[in-house]
Amino acid sequence: MSCIVAVGAHAADMEFTAGATLLKHARAGWAVHLIHLTLGEKGNPRLAPEAYGAQKKREAEEAARKLNATPHFLPYLDGELPANDEAARAVAILLRRLQPQVVIAHWHGSIHTDHTNAYHLTRRAVFMAAIPHFNLEDLPPARGMRIYYAENWEDLDGYRPYVYVDVSDVFAEWEQAFKCYAIGRGEGGFPYWDWYQARTRIRGIEIGTTYAQAFAVDEWRMRQRWDTL
Ligand SMILES: [Zn+2]
Repeated sequence: MSCIVAVGAHAADMEFTAGATLLKHARAGWAVHLIHLTLGEKGNPRLAPEAYGAQKKREAEEAARKLNATPHFLPYLDGELPANDEAARAVAILLRRLQPQVVIAHWHGSIHTDHTNAYHLTRRAVFMAAIPHFNLEDLPPARGMRIYYAENWEDLDGYRPYVYVDVSDVFAEWEQAFKCYAIGRGEGGFPYWDWYQARTRIRGIEIGTTYAQAFAVDEWRMRQRWDTL
């Protein structure tokens, strides 16, 4: 069975940016996993981090159910996500257990340091998981993972979409998963749904469909070898 793993800095990041794409993969028979590096528990001005973290975890579990995905929660703190080998090892161990073909990550050009750190530690984890000489609980290496960078309103510095996924047929179900989160229903003040549904429509127009999610790739993956033009 093919497997896709999305690694988000905060619960909600990957559901908002790539949730429809994940659901498409689930529909196509892929195993789908969401790794939440932090809960994003400091994001509510009225609730203490402990209370809001518990709420975000419940919301993440409900959203994952709607996306036919399995959520994984790592114990890092919102706003304090480290880009170090200990965190990368924790992600690499999960990657070796799951053996995904595709990993969705944050783009590095971000206004949020957790997102930039998530980019670096996800790439480091993919590297460590692939190299057999890193001993990660004696798990077999996970090779050939393809990394795609999701389009996040906070990560647009230098972001260039390259691969588009037509999500028109799962758009309505994605909206339901999105709105499992209070912030997805606009309760946090920022109109997340308005931004993401509008961006998804724009990406759809760009490829001649109704709705699409776009992903960036590393420069070297844009190389194409053709015999004639
Ligand atoms: Zn975030």
